[in-house]
This record gives sequence, C-alpha cells and structure tokens, in this order.
Amino acid sequence: MKVLQGIPASGGIAIGSVSRQELGFAEKIPHYEAADPQAELSRLDEACRRAKEQLEDFYRRSLQLVAEKNSMIFQIHIAMLQDEEYLGEIRAEITDHRTNAEYAVSLAAKKFYDLFSKLDDAYMRARCTDVVDVSNHLLYCLDPSLNAALRPLQSGAVIAVSDLMPSHVVQADRRHTLAFLSRTGTRDAHASILLRDAEIPAVVGLGDDFLQIENGCDVIVDGFTGEVILQPDEATCAEYWQRLQETRARRKESRQFRKGPSVTKDGRRIAVCANISNPSDVESVLRSGADGIGLFRTEYLYMSSSAEPSEEQQFQAYKSVLERMEARRVVVRTLDLGEEPVRPYFNLEPGSNPAMGYRAIRFSLDRSDLFLTQLRALLRASVYGRLAIMFPIVTSQEEIVLARHLVERAREELTGKGIPVSDKIEIGVLIETPSAAVISDLLAPHADFFSIGTNDLTQYILAADRKNPYISHIYNPRHPAVLRMIKLTVDNARSAGIWTAVCGESASDPALTNFYLSIGVEQLSVAPAAVLELRRTIQSVSLENPAQLIEQFLAGRTDLTGKGP
Ligand code: PEP
Ligand code: MG
Repeated sequence: MKVLQGIPASGGIAIGSVSRQELGFAEKIPHYEAADPQAELSRLDEACRRAKEQLEDFYRRSLQLVAEKNSMIFQIHIAMLQDEEYLGEIRAEITDHRTNAEYAVSLAAKKFYDLFSKLDDAYMRARCTDVVDVSNHLLYCLDPSLNAALRPLQSGAVIAVSDLMPSHVVQADRRHTLAFLSRTGTRDAHASILLRDAEIPAVVGLGDDFLQIENGCDVIVDGFTGEVILQPDEATCAEYWQRLQETRARRKESRQFRKGPSVTKDGRRIAVCANISNPSDVESVLRSGADGIGLFRTEYLYMSSSAEPSEEQQFQAYKSVLERMEARRVVVRTLDLGEEPVRPYFNLEPGSNPAMGYRAIRFSLDRSDLFLTQLRALLRASVYGRLAIMFPIVTSQEEIVLARHLVERAREELTGKGIPVSDKIEIGVLIETPSAAVISDLLAPHADFFSIGTNDLTQYILAADRKNPYISHIYNPRHPAVLRMIKLTVDNARSAGIWTAVCGESASDPALTNFYLSIGVEQLSVAPAAVLELRRTIQSVSLENPAQLIEQFLAGRTDLTGKGP
C-alpha cells in the first residue's frame, strides 16, 4: 500500500482500479515505408472491424442512457467508418505511396477535416469532429498507444491522465468515470471546476508521484483530502467503504435543504445558484434545488468540437438549459476560451501569457462575426426562459458599450426576420479584473448586474497564477486585498441600484459566507454539488452587527486559517 498526496480538486471518494490514459499522440504517429502494402491493407480492414464493434457497443450502451435520437451519433460514426470515399483515400495512400496504415489514416483525417471545415452548411461543417473521432478510433485500433481521446471504459474506473484538460472532462463517460487523477493541475484550473460541476471526485497536481500510478492497479481516491492510496490493504478498503457510505448518506441528508428558500437566521433571503459548463449538468442543478444558474460557462461548446459551433448548435444548447430551468434565471457567460489550448479553427497563438492575453470579451469584440453568432443563438433562446447574459474579463466602459451595441445588432437582425426575442434579457458584467472592480462605479450604469469572478480576480490582484502549484499558498481568495475589491464593487453596485452575485469558487467557502452576505451580495453561485451545503450554511448565519464583522475581514483580522475549500 502506498499513499500519494495531491491537490484535492473535487470532493468525493472513489474506490476502483486505474485506467491510465496516455494522450496527445499527434506528433507521435509513426510514418514509415510499408514493406508489404497488402499487409497494411489487411491491418486497416481488421482495425475497421474492431472500431465498428466498439462503436456498436457505444451505441447499445448509449441507448440505455440517453434518448435514441442522441445515440444516433454512434450510428453516424459507423456509417463514416464504412464510407467509401474516406476508406478509398486511406487505401490509395497505402497502395500508391506504400505508406503505413496509421499515417495514411492521419492524412485522410486531415484532408476530410479541412474539406468539411470549409463548407458553408453548418451541419456539414460540424462533421469535422466526427471525422476526427472516427479516425481516432481507427488509429487506436491500429495501435493502442495512439489514443487521443479518453479510451472508452468498459466499467467503472479511475482515469489517470498526465495533463487534465477541460475537454477530457467534457468527453468523460460519466457512467463509468469514478474519479480523475492527474500529474499537473490545481484546484482552480478550469478542468477542476468542471469536475466539481460534474460531481466527479478528483485529485490533481500529483507531480512525479503520478508516474507510480500503474494501469489496472487498485486505488482509493479521496477528493476531499487529496490522498491517493495505491494497492490499499483490506482494513483501508473497509474504512473507505464506510466513508463512501457516509458521504452518500450526508448527501442524502442534505437533501432536506433542497426545498425552500435560503434564508439567514435573521430572515434575509439569498439566491443560491449553480455553475454549469454543459447542458447535461442541468440535471444535477435541478436535483440540488438551486434557485437558478449563476454561471453557464459556454466554452464547452467550443472545446468539444473541432469546428466553430454553429448558431443552430448553440441555440439548441441554450434553449435546452433555459427550458429546463423554467422561470429560474440562467446567467450565460459569453465565450472565454482564455487559457485553454486554442482550437485550430481559430488560428490563434495562445501568447506567452494567455491569462492576460487575447481572450474573453477582447476576443469576442475583435471577432464580432463569432460573437454575433453566439449572441443570435442566445437571443433566439431567450424566449424559452429567463436569460441573463454576462461578459467576461471586462476592463473598461467601452467594452460593455460595444458589447451591448452588438447585442442590439443581433436583436435587430433577428426581429427583422420576424424571429421573436425576449425584451427582458438582463446584461451583466463578470467582475474579475482589478480594473473592473476599481471602476465599478463607472461600469454600473451600463449593467443590470455584477457577478464577481473571484478566481481570476484573485490571481490578478495577487499576481499569482491560479494554476501554478508552486505559488498556491499566495493565491488566496480570502486575502484582504481581494475582499476590499469585492466590497468596493458591491458598494458601487448598490449605489447604482443593481444586484450583485459571487460566482467564483470562493462563493462556496463557508468562512466567507457571512462576509459576502454582510456586504450585501444577493446571490451566490457554486458547483451543483455545493448548493445544499451552502444553503445549510446560510441558514446558520445571522447578520447582526455586520459593520464590525466587515471591518475585521477587511483588516485581515479574522482567524481564517488556510485559503478555503
Ligand atoms: C472567475 O474567474 O471567477 C470565473 C467565474 O470565471 P472562470 O473561473 O471561468 O475563469
Ligand atoms: Mg474568469
């Protein structure tokens, strides 16, 4: 038995065996002259047969989980796998140039990807992703070391992946993914946030210890403490089974907080909302009884596809969330690809310091074609629920004015075509840069609300990269400098008569709940899994004598130890 210590990124206990996944093979695709092209063709046929079997299995399993309509994607993939044009291209490359099968598949994938990505029809353009997917299946069947996507899991497993990307979380088969382990990563990296949203336990930032985690070995993951126990002995297994049951029981017990409003002891009502990253997360939001969605990160749409998502695709995604949330408010944040590896279809270099680079509203205003597509999709969806739109990484009044102008342009384009748009859409600013906080008095007249993004706000105020484990002790959302900026923002919002929320990770820090409520924050938005605990905390809070309490927090005089959850 061996205990490794990593960063607890998403709470929960998992007991299972490891599925170690080596990803990112793009540069490793072997290229050599095939001695016997006929033998290469046979290898290709055999790989096609196995890939088809795999896809049929996906289809069967998917039918048990989701509607037939949504399972059809696997049938489309099977059809593509048998497509004569696609296969013909691979075969011709093998016979004409004596290319090995793997390389021939990668050439065909690239060719079809380029072809599809240039098509006008949005549906056909979206097929790029499918070509990549199908080709990846084939490559994997030709050589199991070439697995770009997470390998399909046959049963429950703990996925160990060196660099955990947000796209891995989006792609993860939620039925079988017990937990994630990774070598790099921090608690506030996007992938970790997505994991908490999805309620998948995770320990990240294991460093070189990660190398000790072998495929197939038995493991216990404690997403609360960051402990990873390899080859646990019987007594440890029994102890953790017990804890697993207790965690489940606690979650069950918390369900009593599902119903009814979140009210402090002295009767103040607070909106407790949930953060999501994918329409499928709405199920857990509904289960949690949240009052709404306080942050819908829309990046997943762009990350889970190899071409820019069309207006129609986006519309369907937004509509499904709004419809299912009924009258409850849904705050959708416009695109902030920010620090993610930038998709090839954007043709962008991430820059040497992507956190401070060409991202979020800067990118959207510069690429107004893309921004307008997202805005039209949002406005079309607005009639299906209660929509609020929020702009990320704002630093000036001009940015909001320009963004609002584009919202109006999108509205005119749609109404000009007779497409209905709600006239009750709220427009807000995600306050996550020090400049936005400092000039929040100037921004407030242009906004219907502020939502404070403490994740980025903390990293910019303290000059501490939220993803860098070496300085994670400096990155501290409880730092008085951060709390002062938040207080200033809320004061300015209140003077202007607009409402405020906190939607960064520290919204779920119970040590800060009292502070946030005392300064007048009206909404807290947290991962769905944290909603019930937050409601429980709010019910235990009493806001008598707030001035003294606020003073203590702003002076750093509270007995807060550590940096919160
Ligand atoms: C934040 O920065 O606090 C925020 C909510 O945005 P993200 O974590 O997606 O950067
Ligand atoms: Mg942010």
